[in-house]
Amino acid sequence: MNQVTENVFVETGYRGCNPGFVKTSEGVVMIDTPQIPKDALAYREIVQKHGKVIYLINTEPHGDHFTGNFFFDALCVAHQGTREAISQASLEALKERIKLLDPGFEPHLETYRIKLPTITFNQSMRLYVGKQTFELIHLPGHTASETAVFVPEERIVFTGDNIFNRVQVFLHEALPKEWLESLEFLKKLDVDHYLPGHGEVCARAYLDEQAAFIRDWVSSIQEAVKKGWTLLEAQERISFLDRYPMGAGMEAFGKELQKMNVARLYALAADGRL
Ligand SMILES: [Zn+2]
Repeated sequence: MNQVTENVFVETGYRGCNPGFVKTSEGVVMIDTPQIPKDALAYREIVQKHGKVIYLINTEPHGDHFTGNFFFDALCVAHQGTREAISQASLEALKERIKLLDPGFEPHLETYRIKLPTITFNQSMRLYVGKQTFELIHLPGHTASETAVFVPEERIVFTGDNIFNRVQVFLHEALPKEWLESLEFLKKLDVDHYLPGHGEVCARAYLDEQAAFIRDWVSSIQEAVKKGWTLLEAQERISFLDRYPMGAGMEAFGKELQKMNVARLYALAADGRL
């Protein structure tokens, strides 16, 4: 567990997203949850030492951010689009995934449910807990409903998956134009630390590198379209695997990820949205 400020903690070592939390005088506010049940249970032990969990905020609707919600008794807050996307998730598919990631949990799988956010917003909202303010800001990019959680008193922001710090980026639902705008917005926040959805905690300087990676992905697909490559040809020829490693535990998925990223951007290009 990394302690970023006196009250801010983030775990960057799990397979899946980086869950984090902020300690206040009134209790704890969590940002996302570990996806593997045994990680979620171990993490819960740590979090509870810092106080009662009051709110749990989901930054986006991917399984590695919300699967662990089930293990936390707290009011769950997210963008309306995140709630809608999570409510479309298949419980059966999720249980299959849990079985693969954590075979030891199988005897308890019958009781597992998807815990949906019950408080939602569209543009932004503020939660006031103790002396801290939690500004939830809709910043589309990695997903359409991606959300940042800015805590001005701590000079930090949880960015969700709009930042992958020096690990491969997932573009399978990306909106690259909006993503670049969101990174510009994040750059202007008065913070010392950016807590990314994946990879280590970083400083403002990394945001340009993240933007450059997205731009390079976009230009590689624009080139491919210009040259008349089919989707299959583009998927065979385009790979950015040499630039960064995969996130922890995801090494075997590298080639598949490149293909997913190409497919998404190729489809956006065909729609004139790249
Ligand atoms: Zn994600």
